[in-house]
Amino acid sequence: MEEARGWLRNAANVAALTGSGISAESGIPTFRGSGGLWRSYRAEDLATPEAFARHPLLVWQWYDWRRTLIAAAQPNPGHLALVELETRVPSFTLITQNVDGLHARAGNSRIVCLHGDIWTLRCTACGKEEQNLQAPLPSLPPKCACGAIQRPGVVWFGEPLPPHAWLAAEKASSQCDLFLVIGTSAVVMPAGGLVYLARQSGARVIEINSEETHLSSLVDCSLRGPAGTILPELLRP
Ligand code: NAD
Repeated sequence: MEEARGWLRNAANVAALTGSGISAESGIPTFRGSGGLWRSYRAEDLATPEAFARHPLLVWQWYDWRRTLIAAAQPNPGHLALVELETRVPSFTLITQNVDGLHARAGNSRIVCLHGDIWTLRCTACGKEEQNLQAPLPSLPPKCACGAIQRPGVVWFGEPLPPHAWLAAEKASSQCDLFLVIGTSAVVMPAGGLVYLARQSGARVIEINSEETHLSSLVDCSLRGPAGTILPELLRP
């Protein structure tokens, strides 16, 4: 921890990749943890274009449940530490796989959202997008003004990432001198590949995770524990 604090103090250009683990202490379940089941469905089986094509109502019931959970949640000390980090480091880019909007609610201003946003609805016919913060939604599936059903504005398994977000994430990961990988199993690709890109580009990598991951033995330092405890400790002067 002491050594990692020193790296952070001396870093001019920091990038952080966050995953669902940073929101776990806000009460939002991760996909692969014990909360990854809804009714008897695995999250990974619902977050796909195929599942939505077959059962749009079921997929929407799951998203509506998650939106309602997230609406009642608050950013936790892990989110807040990253707001503090943004004010301290000359150049800081926050790259998130999360769709919950908690980093923005905490106060970070430069956020690269790799997997979209659960509060955006996109029409399946005309493609029009709208922000919708209602939770629960008054009727499911929600409909666009054109009459077609809308889908959540998130990236599902098997779908490409928004190109501008991916380019920004690659740029930040290849140019930083310190890369933090926080609360992610880093098995979802291509997001997980950013860790390797940062390493190959010469950055030091610090992992923060409550459990050991496949990255733990590859990174320069793996800090084991909840992000809401470890991140504020890492930032302590
Ligand atoms: P994941 O479920 O694969 O991994 C979560 C990781 O977080 C695990 O390695 C776990 O050990 C760690 N973790 C759990 N609690 C933690 C804590 N308190 N502190 C630190 N680490 C903790 O999630 P992923 O890697 O983010 O990938 C799954 C995909 O699902 C991503 O696209 C993700 O965005 C999406 N997802 C998003 C949300 C959200 O927006 N909150 C929630 C669930 C899933």
